[in-house]
Amino acid sequence: MVDISSLLHAGYHNPVLRPLQAERTLTKGSLMYPIFITDEKDSLIPIPSMPNQYRIGVNRLEAIIAPLVAKGLRAVMLFGVPNDSVKDEFGTAADDPEGPVIQAIKLLKAKFSELLVSCDVCLCEYTSHGHCGHLYPDHTIDNEASVRRLAEVAVNYAKAGADNVAPSDMMDGRMLAIKKGLKDAGLSHRVSLMAYSAKYASALYGPFRDAACSGAKFGDRSAYQLPPASRGLGRRAITRDVSEGADIIMVKPATFYLDIIRDAKELAPDHPIAAYQVSGEYAMLHHAAAAGVFDLKTAVLENIACLQRAGCNLILTYFTPELLDWIE
Ligand SMILES: [Zn+2]
Repeated sequence: MVDISSLLHAGYHNPVLRPLQAERTLTKGSLMYPIFITDEKDSLIPIPSMPNQYRIGVNRLEAIIAPLVAKGLRAVMLFGVPNDSVKDEFGTAADDPEGPVIQAIKLLKAKFSELLVSCDVCLCEYTSHGHCGHLYPDHTIDNEASVRRLAEVAVNYAKAGADNVAPSDMMDGRMLAIKKGLKDAGLSHRVSLMAYSAKYASALYGPFRDAACSGAKFGDRSAYQLPPASRGLGRRAITRDVSEGADIIMVKPATFYLDIIRDAKELAPDHPIAAYQVSGEYAMLHHAAAAGVFDLKTAVLENIACLQRAGCNLILTYFTPELLDWIE
């Protein structure tokens, strides 16, 4: 005797029924495309460890972004890639008005007014030591000085026209400082704050550091990025950033941290949750597909669907150009 509640196939036997079983539907508006902006204005430099990704000079940006906007691109995240000669101990070049990020914000907002322009806020691309904040002489993090500088940078990106700022540095208390800075500058009504709340110290960032030339020159970031095995710190960081005024909560990396994405959805049920499918995840999927392990499109769509199932509303992914073609 079969219990009729054990009969599941009927609910998904037909292709029309299957999407109805999804927690969330993938739309083009669920994607944010991370892009690297070099200060070599006319350059378009392939990134060897990230197939199909480039360091883009400001003068090449419009030609790269226009076809994507035509396909439905809604949001980008900018990372600056300055050359070594402008780097110093304090990350002074991060908000240089002539630097790559502020130049890119202005160009994108002028050419694509509907595009949401988000800026990563960190100092590691701009510091000579490659750490995400200011350091004491013993090389430990000077949190207070770092937070002051990060808030300044975020406000300057906002003043240049950014719609969203996203601090990835992992200093304590930076959300509050940035939110206050935006408020004091009269910008809090038109600039959102996306918190890299649960950002783990991951091996999966390797290709990004290659792309952004932002590796630490000594030590590593494990004193401020979260230990991969910790769930409690991720939960505390999410709760803290909500209380400090974050508008969107992010988990990074994505695929190894699905439980943390689910925690974020539970701890911040009234906030959009973002996940950053990082450079190492992107490279793994590409290399596995190239080695014949699976079909790239099938695997990427499954990966993204699982991020959504875990609780994501927004996905930062280098597959955005392909996904704009793949999403019906
Ligand atoms: Zn950083």
